[in-house]
Parts: sequence; C-alpha cells; structure tokens
Amino acid sequence: MCGEEHYTKDADGLCTRLIKPKLMEGTVAAQDEFSRSGWALNRKELKLLQTIGKGEFGDVMVGDYRGNKVAVKCIKNDATAQAFIAEASVMTQLRHNNLVQLLGVIVEERGSLYIVTEYMAKGSLVDYLRSRGRTVLGGDCLLKFSLDVCEAMEYLENNNFVHRDLAARNVLVSDDNIAKVSDFGLTKEASSIQDTGKLPVKWTSPEAIREKRFSTKSDVWSYGILLWEIYSFGRVPYPRIPLKEVVPRVEKGYKMDAPDGCPPVVYDLMKQCWTLDSVVRPSFHMLRDKLQHIRAKELYL
Ligand code: AMP
Repeated sequence: MCGEEHYTKDADGLCTRLIKPKLMEGTVAAQDEFSRSGWALNRKELKLLQTIGKGEFGDVMVGDYRGNKVAVKCIKNDATAQAFIAEASVMTQLRHNNLVQLLGVIVEERGSLYIVTEYMAKGSLVDYLRSRGRTVLGGDCLLKFSLDVCEAMEYLENNNFVHRDLAARNVLVSDDNIAKVSDFGLTKEASSIQDTGKLPVKWTSPEAIREKRFSTKSDVWSYGILLWEIYSFGRVPYPRIPLKEVVPRVEKGYKMDAPDGCPPVVYDLMKQCWTLDSVVRPSFHMLRDKLQHIRAKELYL
C-alpha cells in the first residue's frame, strides 16, 4: 500500500485514487483525523447564539466563528455523532458554489459533535417557495434555482458522488438568493452499498426503492421531483395520491401533471427525469445544458 490510509486499492492491490481519509472508530479518533486534515475548529472561538432549526438528530444553531455568522449542527449523542462524522467527512471532499460549504468540525471529548457550515440566511428552499409564492417569485427566479441545484448535481456527477436525498427541503437559500444543496448525510461514493431503511418514497426512483440501485441516475429522478416542487411553489409531490399507492402507480408509468403555469420546456425535462429506464434518463450535464438554453432563449416566459 502507498503508506497512507488515504489511498484505495484495486483488485490487484495497486493504488488507484485518492478517495477519503478512512475514519478511525470513535469520536476521539475522529478528532485526530480532523485535526490532521486541517478541518478541526477551536471550540473556544465558536459562540452558539440561537436555535434556528431542528434536524432529525440534533439542533441547528446560528453561531459566530471568528466574527463570521455560521450554521452549526449540534449532535450530543455519541452514537449519532458517528453517523455525522461520516457526513462531515464527505463534506471535506466537496467544494462547489452550489453546495453548502463545510467550514470545519469540532469533536468534544464528551462525545458531542459540531458541524460548522456557511450560514444560509433564507432557510430551506421549500419554505422559501411556500412563503413567497408566485406573486413574488417570477419565472427567472424559478429557473435560476433549478440551474443552481443542477450545477451542484453536475459537480457531484463528475465526482462520482450520489446524494440519495435530493429534495427541496434539503436545498438552502443564501442571503443573495443562491440555492445550495445540503444534507450530505446519505451521500456516498457511487459504488457504496446502503440500506433502504427510511426512504423518502416520493423522491426516490423505482429502481432505488426496488433494488437499492442508487446512482447518479436515481438522483436525476429526484431532481425531476425537485423541479416539480420548485414550479409548484413547494407543494408536496403526488397530491391526492395516498402514499402507499405512489410506488405501484409510478411503476406503471404514472407521471405527475405539470404544475400550473410551468413552461412546457421545463415540464418536458421533468418527464425525462422520470423515465422508468434509468439508462435513458438525461445526465445532469445534459440537463444543465438544456436549462441554460431555456434561460438564454427566455423560453421560461
Ligand atoms: P437539517 O437537519 O440539515 O435538515 O436542518 C434543519 C433546518 O435547519 C433546515 O430546514 C434549515 O431551516 C436549518 N438549517 C440547516 N442548515 C442551515 C444553514 N447552513 N444555514 C441556515 N439554516 C440552516
């Protein structure tokens, strides 16, 4: 091996490419790992100011780090911290203007974990869309959000990362109205196997539900649902269809109607994302190209 745990081996035992530092077991070991990679922050310099959100496993707080407003995900429980250490370690490898940027991590000896990210002043995209609605948000805004997310996803596609939980609730909006993809909790390198314990059924592609086949193309399916959320100003997908009927109907080829006022060119992209055969679905690269064309030609008006 090449002397470092940062390398992976192919079938012949040869070094192939840099993937990610393999985290040692336990939060103390993780602290060492983050210190060595330069991602550990100093707890004394972080002021926690107020709670701004409740995640599944801990509070999200607004804080101040060296005079900068930051968001802090606080995880008190040691077992849960382990899962979030994985989330943070994924985030250390990714950098793009449309991904919520990790600033650093604090692992305390008592087992608490703080994940510090850039502060996204306008909150989650789904709440943003619902609270502003169509009277405030024009077609140019909706297309810009769609493009922002698509660019982040094209970056993940190029880097072989699969998000697996892409939805408007996991996109945040910055003070200057840039949409950024967040919540890398489930993000794995494309080859990883995972369990399908708690799937957001309405956002997950049929092959991912059926055979746990998560891929960039299953993210493309979710992106189609996210486009529908954007153009319906944050409605819950598959309105009026009971949850247990969604999968069987989708597998038979059912597709949601276009949201009111949605430009036909954008609805056409949604339907392409919902192609049952994952191979035939467009790539994020293709989607970004088409969205840019729609913007340049003002086909969204
Ligand atoms: P999460 O646990 O990541 O789903 O976050 C729960 C809620 O906390 C989100 O819906 C947001 O309202 C808020 N939140 C999370 N991260 C940030 C951030 N970086 N900036 C501002 N608010 C955030």
